Amino acid sequence: MSNENNSFAQLPLSPAMLANLQQLGYLTMTPIQAASLPITLAGNDLLAQAKTGSGKTAAFALSLLTRLNPKHFGVQAMVLCPTRELADQVTQELRRLARAADNIKILTLCGGSVMRAQIASLEHGAHIVVGTPGRLMDHIERGTLNLSALNTLVLDEADRMLDMGFYDDIAYVAKRCPAARQTLMFSATYPDGIARLARQFMHNPQEVKLLEQHETSKIRQRFYKIDNEQRLEAVAILLKHYHPVSTLAFCNTKQQCRSLLEALHAQGIKALTLNGDLEQRERDQVLIQFANRSCSVLVATDVAARGLDITQLEAVINVDVTPDPEVHIHRIGRTGRADQDGWALSLCGPTDRHRIITIAQMMHIEPAWHELNELESSDDTPLIAPMVTLQILGGRKEKIRAGDVLGALTGDAGYTREQIGKINVTEFSTYVAVARNIALEAVRKLNAGKVKGKTVKVRAL
Ligand code: ADP
Ligand code: MG
Repeated sequence: MSNENNSFAQLPLSPAMLANLQQLGYLTMTPIQAASLPITLAGNDLLAQAKTGSGKTAAFALSLLTRLNPKHFGVQAMVLCPTRELADQVTQELRRLARAADNIKILTLCGGSVMRAQIASLEHGAHIVVGTPGRLMDHIERGTLNLSALNTLVLDEADRMLDMGFYDDIAYVAKRCPAARQTLMFSATYPDGIARLARQFMHNPQEVKLLEQHETSKIRQRFYKIDNEQRLEAVAILLKHYHPVSTLAFCNTKQQCRSLLEALHAQGIKALTLNGDLEQRERDQVLIQFANRSCSVLVATDVAARGLDITQLEAVINVDVTPDPEVHIHRIGRTGRADQDGWALSLCGPTDRHRIITIAQMMHIEPAWHELNELESSDDTPLIAPMVTLQILGGRKEKIRAGDVLGALTGDAGYTREQIGKINVTEFSTYVAVARNIALEAVRKLNAGKVKGKTVKVRAL
């Protein structure tokens, strides 16, 4: 039920927009939306701090969409994001929220995609661009991105962009925007660079700070005492005992991620990792497989995992305890979302004990200490993800839509809706999760049949 205090209806939004929100199941504002939207809709600059998954996109999207003139084919809003995945997530959310208005064109402009295609799309006109600072800068330098009609500039995940060394690129882009504009900056933490950006590029920003308020009751936190040399094998022991369908395992270094991946594979546990060495397409595939439940374990550093919107995470494992208690709180806040319980399991060597004491003080908890030998080691049920990802060669470029794939699988191939999981359409490929027991047969049927009237090439990842 919507509650008077945080209903979208109290905001100056069009009836079409309110109806669309209702359709999307957005019945009440999240706390960051309730705190930010009155400020942004009134035209003020905003500096907002909130954690991942708190609904920041709508907090800026509703404001910039309200100001948009669909009849004018010029870029009126620009959103800067640290990575292409985050830019894609923002674009998707913007498209959903923009459904209320007619034909709003939103372009994603990131590195790793062909420049020429982006330039052609820009020539056709766009209302909103979402991209990474480096690529946006390229377009501005070449004169292919005209910002003269821009009225809203958004810096999303600003701290992460600073972590990645984008300060100068952001400054370059911001200086090329019209001075009379609204600037909105979102950040999970406030390192020094944020204040510098705010001073340099914002006009009397209003501040909104929502401190971490995880419902700790939903996160069951356990601290396992280990010796350092047991660390990697302990992860497999935890996984075999708790049997979570989706686990995010945090390491403090890339090297540790690699070592853990090897250790898990040696135990027959399929795990994937995200790191900067992956090509964009490989990163997409990792994220898609993890999010659609065809890979149970994702191993990552904090930098690699920041900002990913992954729901339904049964467990977070702190393979290494982080020295920063705030980072610890961020990490474990990724589990136990919505109505689900989540496990936060931390492996603590002798030198980690003092870190746990600081974390416990900050979280006002009494740490629950456990020993590895309490865990059943006789459980031989393998940890196997419920789904398998099929890759169809052909994506947005071939005008394939999720519905076409679902249609092929539930129509000609004869599967039920329940056997099919998430469908992701990317530029050149489409990924569909299917129940593990039908995967091979589904590959055969799709290869033999047609999607959208065309024969396609399909393989299981
Ligand atoms: P953030 O940018 O803070 O990490 P997002 O904007 O990506 O968060 O939103 C996280 C998820 O919550 C998305 O799946 C989004 O569709 C959903 N969401 C956002 N606002 C609402 C709302 N008011 N009601 C229900 N779901 C929402
Ligand atoms: Mg976001």
